[in-house]
Amino acid sequence: MDLPVTEWKSYLLQKWSLLPKSIQVTVSTAETLSDVFLHSSSLLQPEDEIFLRRLSKGYFVGKDFGAPLFYREEGNKKFQEKDYTVAAVLYSKGVSHSRPNTEDMSLCYANRSAALFHLGQYEMCLKDIIRAQTHGYPERLQPKIMLRKAECLVALGRLQEARQTISDLERNFTASPTLADFPSQSVQKNLHHLKMKVQEKENLTETFPAALAKTLEGVDLREENKQLSNASSSVSLCMDPFKGRYLVATREILPGELLVKEDAFVSVLNPGELPPLHHSLDSKWDTRVTIGDLYCHRCLKHTLATVPCDGCSYAKYCSQECLQQAWELYHRIECPLGGLLLTLGVFCHTALRLTLLVGFEDVSKIRKLYDEVSNKDICLPESSSWVKTLNSGLGEIEKNGKIIETPIPGCDVNGKYESNYQAVFNLLPHTENHTPEHKFLCALCVSALCRQLEAASFQTVTTGANSSQLKAATAPELCPDVTVWGVVMLRHMLQLQCNAQAITTIQHTGSKEGIVTSSRQVRLATGIFPVVSLLNHSCSPNTSVSFISTVATIRASQRIGKGQEILHCYGPHKNRMGVAERQQKLRSQYFFDCTCPACHTEAHRMATRPRWEAFCCNRCRAPMQGDDVLSCGHRGCAVSVRRDHLASRLQDLRQQVGMARKLLRDGKLEPAIQQLSGCQRDAESFLSAEHAVLGEIEDGLAQACAALGDWQKSATHLQNSLRVVEARHGPSSVEMGRELFKLAQIFFNGFAVPEALSTIRKAEEVLSLHCGPWDDEIQELQKMKSCLLDLTPTPVGPSV
Ligand SMILES: [Zn+2]
Ligand SMILES: [Zn+2]
Ligand SMILES: [Zn+2]
Ligand SMILES: [Zn+2]
Repeated sequence: MDLPVTEWKSYLLQKWSLLPKSIQVTVSTAETLSDVFLHSSSLLQPEDEIFLRRLSKGYFVGKDFGAPLFYREEGNKKFQEKDYTVAAVLYSKGVSHSRPNTEDMSLCYANRSAALFHLGQYEMCLKDIIRAQTHGYPERLQPKIMLRKAECLVALGRLQEARQTISDLERNFTASPTLADFPSQSVQKNLHHLKMKVQEKENLTETFPAALAKTLEGVDLREENKQLSNASSSVSLCMDPFKGRYLVATREILPGELLVKEDAFVSVLNPGELPPLHHSLDSKWDTRVTIGDLYCHRCLKHTLATVPCDGCSYAKYCSQECLQQAWELYHRIECPLGGLLLTLGVFCHTALRLTLLVGFEDVSKIRKLYDEVSNKDICLPESSSWVKTLNSGLGEIEKNGKIIETPIPGCDVNGKYESNYQAVFNLLPHTENHTPEHKFLCALCVSALCRQLEAASFQTVTTGANSSQLKAATAPELCPDVTVWGVVMLRHMLQLQCNAQAITTIQHTGSKEGIVTSSRQVRLATGIFPVVSLLNHSCSPNTSVSFISTVATIRASQRIGKGQEILHCYGPHKNRMGVAERQQKLRSQYFFDCTCPACHTEAHRMATRPRWEAFCCNRCRAPMQGDDVLSCGHRGCAVSVRRDHLASRLQDLRQQVGMARKLLRDGKLEPAIQQLSGCQRDAESFLSAEHAVLGEIEDGLAQACAALGDWQKSATHLQNSLRVVEARHGPSSVEMGRELFKLAQIFFNGFAVPEALSTIRKAEEVLSLHCGPWDDEIQELQKMKSCLLDLTPTPVGPSV
């Protein structure tokens, strides 16, 4: 997904392996990035481009006017099954393939409005009704949509408008009752029913609280940092030759304190699992629900009511404003390249979008500046230029012909570090660490992209299409040196490997009954955050990152003493991977050996495995020790067993648990419980009580019991699962917070008031270390709490 699709990647790697040794050496020993780019791109042959174009065609992003009917029917099926979310997504797919101002488009919007109505998303429903009407909703169906509109207005408490809609409908209907496709009786009945509802609401005097908007308002840095934009004054930027740039605490920081709040400089939505290549006939239209169907392609807001790009079926937005902005900033160039960008991968796409966002003018300006600063090409090892910077005490940049000193790369003349293109440009590309074939691969991707852009701009020039911006960005005569652009994009593509930040969100997946939700983290997009990038890695970090829309926030997850370094985790966390795996990952992707305290201590006691993957004795339940042959640690108990025997038992067990989970997902609760209980007995005979698989089994049992309404049993199972999570992730981890959230829901639903209140308090405490007050789960907890506190204690016992 980050890199090009497998077919193109292996094509290029094969091409590389077949190059004459002398040419490989030329590329490998090229001193500058421009040389790498020039040598590589001269090797891109027309047949390579033909192959690439054929691949790109497989990722169809155009509009297929035959598709809307298909998607509407598929959506209707899901609607019948009351799966309104999936139905809405399928209608959206129909919209994205429709011609504007056609019955196809208006019917897809109208059907989606019905799905949104059932989901209680009345505002969105109203918007879709308007969209349906502006795209030519058929006159004969009007009463249907007008009734829905009135229902929405009533539900929203907008009674004045509701009355207006009702009387409009009555007037139209009495004027031409035969026009409508509905028996007049049913319309009359509905109207009567609605009027009653309006009346009822009017008699209610209470005012409805405005829906809690999920915004960043009120979540601000305590005090803005003067030297470092988007950071709190509790941190400061430092640099040394070994660590590079890093952040330290300028005063004692308490758990939960907000340290950085930064909007992505650039972000590209993760296409997720790519649609199948369009070679097979049976899978012509894709009905899967992807990230791209649920989140705005510009601001990453979650929405079921997307509006599609006019030019393609891929890009979808939360609103007309986002659509417009994306179009002006980058999508008008990217839209015709859709399939190619999916083929070349997210990193290449992000590199292009970066240069489009800042405009080519600025890109070349910054590059020139950089050349002057380092007095050499942008490819030379940064570490040595840093050492030089440090030796001379200060770096230098030129401004108005004068040499001005600047302390740290990426800072402006006043020494301030900001989330701007200069900072982005100064992120390390690690050119010297990437393998020659990787650089070759990236260079050829960028080069193919540049040629496509040149061709596109040439077309625009010759056909005289009205796209002056495109010309400015791409026309050869306006940008004499496409190579400069290519080199800059190549630099960005190489930077992304170490500096890309995955923008994630928590997706809630509930059981069908929707009583207890479980959640998982999903990757929404890839972004660049110049300030967040300043943080170094630790496998046991002292901060936590979360996202809302494209904004990242970093909070202290524990107390951080004055002078201590602020650290976050690049992915390999000590609770998720063993030390060897972490080291391997950090070395191959980020080019360094981790020396964090977790790695240090673990490396010295490799022999004992963490409890969440330990085996235990089947006779006395003591932990088993050893390498190939494990023996019971308990004195006098002579049990011993081969590790591979236990490993294969574990594998079988995992499979069984997987099958049970599937039963659970399908709503087959009793068989799921039976299967899980069997797994549990098996697991307890050879796994430690805190083993991750045991936790998973307990969690499944808790879900099944909750779905059956057995709150007590469900809570017991969940408390067992909670112990495993605590052993593995620690008592104040975000994982622990989510588990506590689930437990709170169960107590809440079971009316166990004191237990619910104390669990809510614990969950809030843990979650607020990691997420801000706008977080869905924290808001939900607060709602539960106020609901419980409102319950006045009722006297127990029979009334007379
Ligand atoms: Zn948006
Ligand atoms: Zn488009
Ligand atoms: Zn480490
Ligand atoms: Zn034993």
